[in-house]
Amino acid sequence: MSEAPSVFSRIVSGEIPTTLLAETDRVIAFADINPQAPVHLLVVPKTGEYRDVVALAAGDPSLLAEMVEVASSLAQEHTGGDFRLVFNTGETAGQTVFHVHAHVLGGSLQEGSLGGA
Ligand code: 5GP
Repeated sequence: MSEAPSVFSRIVSGEIPTTLLAETDRVIAFADINPQAPVHLLVVPKTGEYRDVVALAAGDPSLLAEMVEVASSLAQEHTGGDFRLVFNTGETAGQTVFHVHAHVLGGSLQEGSLGGA
C-alpha cells in the first residue's frame, strides 16, 4: 500500500493553496505556516521521493545543491543575505513532515539560540 501524499506534495500539486516565493523546475519555496523566526521560509523539492536530507544527499546531490542555491537567493531578498539553514532529520530532532525540506531562518537571530528546547 502506498503512503498518503505529504502536506508538501499536496502544496506542490496545488491541492493546498500557498503563495510561492520562488520556483525552479525542481524546487518550490514558501513561508512556513508557523514561523519560528522573523523570516521563516521553507525550500521543498517537488519530488516527494526523499524523506530527509540524508536520503537526498545520497540520491540526488545536485537537487540538494539547488535547494541551497534557492535558500541563498531567498535570503538575499528577505534577510539581506544572512540565513540559517535547518534540515530537521528524524522525529526526535523535530521532523514532522517526511518529505525533505530546508528551513530558511533569518532576521536578527541571536547567537546561542540554536538547538533550544
Ligand atoms: P519539520 O518539523 O518537519 O522540520 O517542518 C515542517 C514545517 O512545515 C513546520 O515548520 C510547519 O510549521 C510547516 N508546515 C506544516 N504544514 C504546513 C502547511 O500546510 N503550510 C505551510 N506553509 N507550512 C506548513
